[in-house]
Amino acid sequence: MKKKMRKLFLLAALLLITTFSLPTLSLANSTDSYEVNSPVLNVRSEPSNNAPVVGQFSKGDQVNIFNEQHGWVQTYYGGEPVWIAKHHLVAINNSVQESAPATETTVDSSEAVTVSAESIYVRSGPSTSDKIIAYAYQGDSFDILSTSGDWIQVSLAQGGTGWIASWLTTNGNGSTEEETSTNPAPSVEAAQTKSNSSGSLSGYTIVIDPGHGGKDPGAIGLNNVQEKDIVTSTANYVVQQLEEAGANVITTRSGDYFVSLDERARISNSYNTDAFISLHYDTFTAMPVSGVTTYYNSNSDISLAKSLDTTLNSTVSLPSRGTDQAGFKVLRKTNAPSVLIELGFISNPHDLTIVQTADYQSSVARGITNGLINHLSN
Ligand SMILES: [Zn+2]
Repeated sequence: MKKKMRKLFLLAALLLITTFSLPTLSLANSTDSYEVNSPVLNVRSEPSNNAPVVGQFSKGDQVNIFNEQHGWVQTYYGGEPVWIAKHHLVAINNSVQESAPATETTVDSSEAVTVSAESIYVRSGPSTSDKIIAYAYQGDSFDILSTSGDWIQVSLAQGGTGWIASWLTTNGNGSTEEETSTNPAPSVEAAQTKSNSSGSLSGYTIVIDPGHGGKDPGAIGLNNVQEKDIVTSTANYVVQQLEEAGANVITTRSGDYFVSLDERARISNSYNTDAFISLHYDTFTAMPVSGVTTYYNSNSDISLAKSLDTTLNSTVSLPSRGTDQAGFKVLRKTNAPSVLIELGFISNPHDLTIVQTADYQSSVARGITNGLINHLSN
């Protein structure tokens, strides 16, 4: 208890120092330093999940970032500028690293933050389980009132205060005078994109959750085919087609590494997510079962599930087994409408041959993209 008190005191003192004093050299240096928080983090040539992978970082690797857009940050890899997904990074603040190993402490001495993700929630308290009370959009700037862990308390335009996730912001008031004059009301524009959407997914944030990964291979099919591998490959097609349709796509993993179900939900709940889609392949040992099943958990997921089942049924060559209710943890823990799709049975030689083809995986991507367009634009 005593130790804890001292830690709290040190943290409070540090916050005071960082809030009220000029940045010291070590704090200034640590502002843009991050540690990789995923076992494997793909390094890409452009800020997109479709961009070629040009390398990989491992958990614990430290990176300095110098640019940020749409949840991607730029760093150097082998002397070349490259892009990595920011939500796999944890900010390093040398001075508090030991006392707060589990939390991200991105807040530094700057007094303002700018939203870097396309759209985010403003919550009543400093956690993803607190109530959503407003939205903020890319480019919105807020003055920092206080911080708690990796959350920032901000004033709201309509009065009162709320909390935003620091990992979805950049430090400083991002808008220069020039930007302000060309883009006078980013929040209004972002809000309008949604209502103006007609057939495209522009302005929508979709979270794609490739099931399993790393030490968790998922189902093992015939010929030792592992579910995680087919899921990864399918997810790449899905991400690509969704991005082509204009969606802002977030993935819960971008390589072959383990991500807990809680972490998958946390990633989705960090964003103003319009739909969460978990991708899986089934096994069934007793009978030659075949086809695609779309699972939902709560009533608010049903219309998304039905829409995806309808379009998948018309694009993929395996039969639809319809929609079904199931309390998968990843569906229970995500706030956005969410579904889990079992895209075929890798225990069935017929399904297995089909689902491994580019044709099939690309038809899955088409079905999901069309289903989302129908669902979100209606
Ligand atoms: Zn699975």
